[in-house]
Amino acid sequence: MKPLLKENNSVGEVVNFVSRDQLTDSNVQHWHDENPINFSAEERSKTTLLFGGLTEMHDQLLEAGMVALGYKAKALPVADFEALQCGKEYGNRGQCNPTYFTVGNLVNYLCDLRDNKNLSVAEIIESYLFVTAATCGPCRFGMYVTEYRKALRDAGFEGFRILSFQGGHAGKGGNKNDGLETDIKFFSTTIKCVVIADVLNAIGYRIRPYEVENGATDRALAASKELLQVAIGKRKSLIKALYQCRKLLAAVKTDFSLVKPKVLVIGEFWAMTTEGDGNYRLQRFLEQEGAECEVQPITNWLLYMLWEEKSRLKETMLLRKVESTENSHKDKKSVLASFQVNMATLGLKGFFYGVASLLGLKKYKLSDMDEIARISHPYYLNEVRGGEGHMEVGKLIQAVEQKKAHLVISVKPFGCMPSSGVSDGVQSLITARYPKANFIAIETTGDGAVNVYSRVQMALFRARKQAQKESDLLLSE
Ligand code: SF4
Repeated sequence: MKPLLKENNSVGEVVNFVSRDQLTDSNVQHWHDENPINFSAEERSKTTLLFGGLTEMHDQLLEAGMVALGYKAKALPVADFEALQCGKEYGNRGQCNPTYFTVGNLVNYLCDLRDNKNLSVAEIIESYLFVTAATCGPCRFGMYVTEYRKALRDAGFEGFRILSFQGGHAGKGGNKNDGLETDIKFFSTTIKCVVIADVLNAIGYRIRPYEVENGATDRALAASKELLQVAIGKRKSLIKALYQCRKLLAAVKTDFSLVKPKVLVIGEFWAMTTEGDGNYRLQRFLEQEGAECEVQPITNWLLYMLWEEKSRLKETMLLRKVESTENSHKDKKSVLASFQVNMATLGLKGFFYGVASLLGLKKYKLSDMDEIARISHPYYLNEVRGGEGHMEVGKLIQAVEQKKAHLVISVKPFGCMPSSGVSDGVQSLITARYPKANFIAIETTGDGAVNVYSRVQMALFRARKQAQKESDLLLSE
């Protein structure tokens, strides 16, 4: 009889082959991933929630938000090259770069607690856990949590808890698991912190390139962050704090007569958002080279998720209409859900513009998700999910048609299928159809900084010339 399957395939163990006919429940050993996610309400006061992965401003305001909700919380530092190396050492082969950076960053932090703060592994496992967002895919983001567990196990932290939440549901299973309440309060606090950080970052990108005194913008942003951390963490008046921040930021002296090319940074969510080695500190590099950056706010991502839900509900209603009238009572639910999504979209936009107006960010426009979907649809199906979906395509077309930037840079992480397919594939068609586009896609492998910088410099040369031409034309009128 031909051997087909192993009876026991654990590494290092002697394996016996059995035929498919001989397989029974007792001799098949299925792969099992231990998933310790027990975190009870009683443990809250003695457990520190670790998290991170956005910009420093986002992570630190979120830390204050978590404290306001009654948790002990700590934002991890921005991921650097050491994090990438550590992620590669303990992670599986063939992961995308953001996986290595984020996983390695957590492992490094825990190693620091063990090696430099003299905490035992048992103490770390008992008094710390990591909280992260998760999805079911379709890209590797769906595997992040498993990847965290694998790396932690191999690095000697077996049993360390990773709590994930998705769309309002905390991970289930394990023992008593009511420590992290992913309720409306949790999400509204998270969104509040994210939006405020988005607006502060946007102001920073607007004024830093034109500041008269070097470092004045960063100092004003740091002071604003401190004010807001106190206001959020201690539940003091947010409006008063935002108004104080406005004064600090308005005091930065600027010279907007300087001619600078505007660079739109798009691409994979994590790679374009991080301010660390994950994108070779691209934003700071562009500013050093004399450009003004526009980085995508996380609010746009939230609007995209709401748009996805709205479009799903629309399709469901359409299908039900075609199928039969028996399910018509369920349509009422879909109509109500659509209404709620529309309200949430309006609320999110309203809150963003309210914060922008209090902080003094003028003439800033969030992406119109319906428009982005419409203009990108001929080139990239709106139904295809993964990575940024059709957003990246739509943003490039918009940038050219509406003359939003002199250069568009797409950041695609090494090993990312969705981002590479768009940046190298679909965007080539867009640049052929829109020859005026000054577009480059850069790949972040973690070790190709010189190559990336020199490509960016070449594209910036064209952008600078275009910006100068436009300025000369304007002055001659
Ligand atoms: S979009 Fe790409 S880089 Fe981002 S998690 Fe998915 S596979 Fe990884």
